[in-house]
Amino acid sequence: VLSAKDVIKNYGELEVLKGINLDIHQGEVVVIIGASGCGKSTFLRCLNGLEDIQGGDIILDNEIKFSDTKNDMTKIRQKIGMVFQSYELFSHLTILDNILLAPMKVQKRNREEVKEQALKLLERVNLLDKQNSYPRQLSGGQKQRVAIVRALCMNPEIMLFDEVTAALDPEMVREVLDVMLELARDGMTMVIVTHEMQFARAVADRVIFMDNGNIAEQGEAEEFFSNPKTERAQKFLNTFT
Ligand code: ATP
Ligand code: MG
Repeated sequence: VLSAKDVIKNYGELEVLKGINLDIHQGEVVVIIGASGCGKSTFLRCLNGLEDIQGGDIILDNEIKFSDTKNDMTKIRQKIGMVFQSYELFSHLTILDNILLAPMKVQKRNREEVKEQALKLLERVNLLDKQNSYPRQLSGGQKQRVAIVRALCMNPEIMLFDEVTAALDPEMVREVLDVMLELARDGMTMVIVTHEMQFARAVADRVIFMDNGNIAEQGEAEEFFSNPKTERAQKFLNTFT
């Protein structure tokens, strides 16, 4: 569904992505791991069209090139949901209104129709009773589950997750990871950046190990974790045990 072709990203003199090639297929769960600063977040932002790139291209559904200036990036971005470490909910809006905002404003959908979908999703993540609460009244784990629901309510083709549990207290990590595991089981196409290695192993179809702006190794999840081939990946995995 989503392809990165020779993606090069520089910040001034700094070469952050040095020619990344990756095809993410429909229904696939790809987990990206790698040391801090290797370019994981930058790559996710490129996949979402949030960064201009200096070389290569991102292509959606084999035909929509991000580089083609005739394309409407606002439209394209609706097909690619993204959830960040910081939830970025609007503090002055209720949970329900936070979720309804973009589908109504950007997609011009009818409030009642989106609301029906939103309430179903809130129920799925066990937060139906919080629909009229404000973000400050929720725990970090609850806010992150709302952020996931908000992204899902746009009916994206693919979801990108950037270390969505990194800012959470340990007891709240599980509830967010469980929502992601369930989404994966339901067949959602997902790209996940995480430092939670057990979760990565459980959820991933394919693991991408990034090192210094390149894909240093990739493989089927079980194979990668039990038998990493490159020394860099072995060293990286050893820091978690
Ligand atoms: P982490 O695991 O810590 O989140 P990461 O793999 O996500 O790391 P990135 O955030 O993609 O790493 O950063 C890659 C490199 O690009 C780093 O050297 C970082 O300092 C640099 N960088 C990121 N964003 C910018 C920016 N807006 N301007 C300049 N340099 C940046
Ligand atoms: Mg990052």
